[in-house]
Amino acid sequence: MERYDEIRESVRKLCADFPGEYWRKLEHNQDYPSEFVNKLTQSGYLGALIPEEFGGSGLPIGAGAAILEEIHAQGCNAAACHAQMYTMGTVLRYGSEEQKAQYLPQIASGALRLQAFGVTEPTSGTDTTALRTTAVREGDHYIVNGQKIWTSRARQSDLMLLLCRTTPLDKVTKKTDGLSVLLVDMRKANTEELSIRPIRAMVNHSSNEVFFDNLKVPTSALVGEEGKGFKYILSGMNAERILIAAECIGDAKWFIEKSSQYAKERVVFGRPIGQNQGIQFPIARAYAQMRAAELMLQESIRLYDAGQNPGEEANLAKMLCADASWAAAEACLQTHGGFGFAEEYDVERKFRETRLYQVAPISTNLILSYIAEHVLGMPRSY
Ligand SMILES: Cc1cc2nc3c(=O)[nH]c(=O)nc-3n(C[C@H](O)[C@H](O)[C@H](O)COP(=O)(O)OP(=O)(O)OC[C@H]3O[C@@H](n4cnc5c(N)ncnc54)[C@H](O)[C@@H]3O)c2cc1C
Repeated sequence: MERYDEIRESVRKLCADFPGEYWRKLEHNQDYPSEFVNKLTQSGYLGALIPEEFGGSGLPIGAGAAILEEIHAQGCNAAACHAQMYTMGTVLRYGSEEQKAQYLPQIASGALRLQAFGVTEPTSGTDTTALRTTAVREGDHYIVNGQKIWTSRARQSDLMLLLCRTTPLDKVTKKTDGLSVLLVDMRKANTEELSIRPIRAMVNHSSNEVFFDNLKVPTSALVGEEGKGFKYILSGMNAERILIAAECIGDAKWFIEKSSQYAKERVVFGRPIGQNQGIQFPIARAYAQMRAAELMLQESIRLYDAGQNPGEEANLAKMLCADASWAAAEACLQTHGGFGFAEEYDVERKFRETRLYQVAPISTNLILSYIAEHVLGMPRSY
């Protein structure tokens, strides 16, 4: 299996300019890591998965996973920009030739940022088909009304991939029908039509509430066919699961390295704490868990790159990798004792950051229900 060692090496070098201090300062001010994202963009990493004909590097998903894993393994956080890697897939697969030619080269070069992904709403939550944001066609425009929540990076993005209802729920036979994807150019909206309110959160994730009040969006922004949007969004989920799982592996590696190092250096009762098996074992267990999860991730990458649709493996990888990073986070915090709570060690920051992956972009329960119902054939619960 290709490891992309050269890419990993140069990502490591890039990350060396963004130490813990950089991320701590940003978090204090709830700022966006523009400098870091610009560097990643200029180096071509955010366009790695965009085909060469559209100005990207045309690399397979394993390369994207290697980039994101390495960023996290260096103590950095790719959450500020990772969505671009998978949201552009929807445009690539279902966008018109004009949309692809207009947007993808600019996304690849960094001239345009496609960072915002508007799916979650306050009332519907995980029950996506119950979302209430509507787009009503009027001549050559849609009029969009509604609200999204947790729309990360909306203030730092030019474009938003928006899922909204174009046919009311009571007029469709299947609740998954009647949803559409719009590629909204947010630069063209005024603040009355489109307002964005930041959410202060446990992690510095640039998340927002987004309100649409009669926002006019040209029909040319429709991606694919009207009413088929749910399928388009679902089609990008395996890539999303794989890429997030890779970030979790990176986090787990960071925690394991940090805790084993500290366990060797910290002397209490006249000997390194790492000489105590009570300290060694949780770290060793987290390492075993990470290695096993990494194998499932590699399997999902292998199948994805072979052109399959590895729903089972991508979901398993996301869950196992998120569990592995959480176990490693817990071992790392415990190993550091009180110092684990001090900001300057970065352990508490990474601890909070990796906790997110039990909830977003898909929560563990929803993965378990996918496995129970779609893989094991048990009755549907919702
Ligand atoms: C920092 C952050 C960034 C985010 N960024 C984005 C973004 O950019 N774009 C976007 O669209 N969304 C984003 N999200 C939203 C995220 O995808 C959702 O929070 C997540 O999918 C869970 O949905 P919810 O919060 O509505 O939880 P709910 O749907 O309210 O669920 C609450 C809990 O109940 C459980 N639950 C619900 N239904 C069931 C069931 N049938 N069986 C068992 N358990 C169930 C869930 O697993 C969860 O643990 C972000 C969230 C966070 C916190």
